[in-house]
Amino acid sequence: MAKRDFYQVLGVDKKASAEELKKAYRKLAMQYHPDKNPGNKEAEAKFKEISEAYDTLKDDQKRAAYDRFGHAAFDGGMGGGAARGAGGMGGGFAGGNFSDIFEEMFGDFMGQQGRARGGAEGARRGADLTYELDITLEEAFAGKDAAVKIASWQGCQTCNGSGAEKGTKAETCATCRGAGRIRAQQGFFTVERTCPGCNGAGQTIKTPCGTCSGSGRTRKERSLSVAIPAGVDHGTRIRVTGEGEAGLRGGPSGDLYVFLSVKPHRFFQREGANLYCRVPVAMTMATLGGAIEVPTIEGKRIKVTVPAGTQTGQQFRLKGKGMSVLRQQTRGEMFVEVAVETPVNLSKKQKELLQEFAGDTPATKNSPQSSSFFDKVKDLWEDLKD
Ligand SMILES: [Zn+2]
Ligand SMILES: [Zn+2]
Repeated sequence: MAKRDFYQVLGVDKKASAEELKKAYRKLAMQYHPDKNPGNKEAEAKFKEISEAYDTLKDDQKRAAYDRFGHAAFDGGMGGGAARGAGGMGGGFAGGNFSDIFEEMFGDFMGQQGRARGGAEGARRGADLTYELDITLEEAFAGKDAAVKIASWQGCQTCNGSGAEKGTKAETCATCRGAGRIRAQQGFFTVERTCPGCNGAGQTIKTPCGTCSGSGRTRKERSLSVAIPAGVDHGTRIRVTGEGEAGLRGGPSGDLYVFLSVKPHRFFQREGANLYCRVPVAMTMATLGGAIEVPTIEGKRIKVTVPAGTQTGQQFRLKGKGMSVLRQQTRGEMFVEVAVETPVNLSKKQKELLQEFAGDTPATKNSPQSSSFFDKVKDLWEDLKD
């Protein structure tokens, strides 16, 4: 398949600045991100294409080479490497390690690439872990320290993560002299490859550690406390740096991603930072006026004045009584919606009183909405007659 022009892929001019490239890339990457298009192969391919184009153009040297020679500049050399890199990233996303707040995602995304490159020295970075945590709306409001138990690979204590039997040492790989990668001249570029002698580890182990069979890690359950900040929402992801699986042979640990799911509340519905609740109010109070007490998310009660003549569906706003806002000092609003309750199970006396009330009340004055409604319908009926 013929490759599309990288500038075209990103929808930018050939003279686009680094800032313009980044902007165009972000916009497209968000649109075609696999997490936003689950199971959509076309979006996935598009995402890889965008990533590859940006990967090349953001690097001044590669961009200059691309401008001069087009895709041919990378044939058999860096191009292949870049494509593999993009593929690898796609795989990572598809693996479900990423989601949520895009600002954070991009931070990690760049970090991930950086780490992947930095990790060429042999030791391998540990995998990221995910943990799903259910919290209540109250906990999302106030934040909490959550105890999280995870089974994962840990650095082996017998060999201190080196993978070599006690008293012995891993030896520097003779093929790459410990670099983990070998270089070869190819076309315009010097191409780097993973060393076949040590699979990129840079070291070979003659006598593997008996506890971990040379991997430098063992599987263990551990518990840790994760700080859940106030204001988190359903689907928020929290990254705990370095709490993923231990790296191979002393490599850095992966990260732990805690995915939050906020349980439905029996009284409040949340919409962003605002809280909504529906409160039934007796017909007499709605008519004559009064006050009700409603619960707040922080566990207190608050008095709400119900003015005389309140109707069903009328909302009262309680300023600053909504949810806390992530990383801010402000709070959202709370909205109380009134549902006027029609009296039931009336006694004979009550019925008589209401009949008496209905008998001598001018409808247009006491029930303006319903009387005007029936006026309108009456007109309609008249019009329909012939
Ligand atoms: Zn060991
Ligand atoms: Zn080697």
